[in-house]
Amino acid sequence: MQDLMKGKRGLVMGVANDHSIAWGIAKTLAGQGAELAFTYQGEGMAKRVRPLAEGIGSSILLPCDVEDIKSVDAVFETLKDKWGSIDFLVHAVAFSDKSELKGRYADTSRENFSRTMVISCFSFTEIAKRAAALMPNGGSLITLTYGGSTRVMPNYNVMGVAKAALEASVRYLAADYGPAGIRVNAISAGPVRTLAGAGIADARLMFNYQKRHAPLRRTVSIEEVGGSALYLLSDLSTGVTGEIHFVDSGYNIMSMPHPDVLKT
Ligand code: NAD
Repeated sequence: MQDLMKGKRGLVMGVANDHSIAWGIAKTLAGQGAELAFTYQGEGMAKRVRPLAEGIGSSILLPCDVEDIKSVDAVFETLKDKWGSIDFLVHAVAFSDKSELKGRYADTSRENFSRTMVISCFSFTEIAKRAAALMPNGGSLITLTYGGSTRVMPNYNVMGVAKAALEASVRYLAADYGPAGIRVNAISAGPVRTLAGAGIADARLMFNYQKRHAPLRRTVSIEEVGGSALYLLSDLSTGVTGEIHFVDSGYNIMSMPHPDVLKT
């Protein structure tokens, strides 16, 4: 299938480098004809994101730190000026203090709990509101989550709690914006080696465990996440909203490792 995104314009938030999940999504969307705008967090990121964005023909690249709501507003004002409307949005933004992505969840500080929630959860609600205002003919929004939201993943801690709230936000936002023809979904990706992923203690162990025990016996690529994002952001999924779609080689369905694997 070709040109599934032809004539569609959207914003991708969360590319840090060419290992980012958002980059896997952006490449796939661009390959299907989408016109993309990107945000980057701070000038340090700009030098990596700019060549990537330009390489797939994007001319809109804007700074945005979701902790600074004025920078979020500025992004949507620019999109309104340049494009008037958008068709889709990718939110692939998360942060928590590395020192609390290890040890016990019980030791999470109030300060880092709030910061993690604002950046990794509430930013999606704030951004969805601004994106929806630019979607007079409907649209599709996605965010990225992880299975540590519903089951305990050691060291994921406060990020798991933030992802649980993010997933609940997806359902509430889907109900709020559904009447306007705007769909809201999340992709729950299996572990991927990225900057954010590396912040979690024992990330390599987690990665290898899931690789060994997932039904497909492997992890997923950012291009595979991109394929599912294409489905959720294109007209292939016009009947789908409020879903948490797993792209994790099936890891989430297992209640214990398969005995064949345990015996090896
Ligand atoms: P990444 O480090 O490539 O991307 C994280 C992005 O968040 C970066 O671009 C960073 O600039 C941005 N960000 C952080 N704080 C921000 C702020 N205050 N304002 C604006 N942007 C900010 O890592 P990734 O793994 O591609 O992460 C993308 C999303 O995927 C995150 O929501 C993450 O939780 C989720 N996810 C990752 C994995 C994994 O294993 N890597 C698995 C499931 C879900």
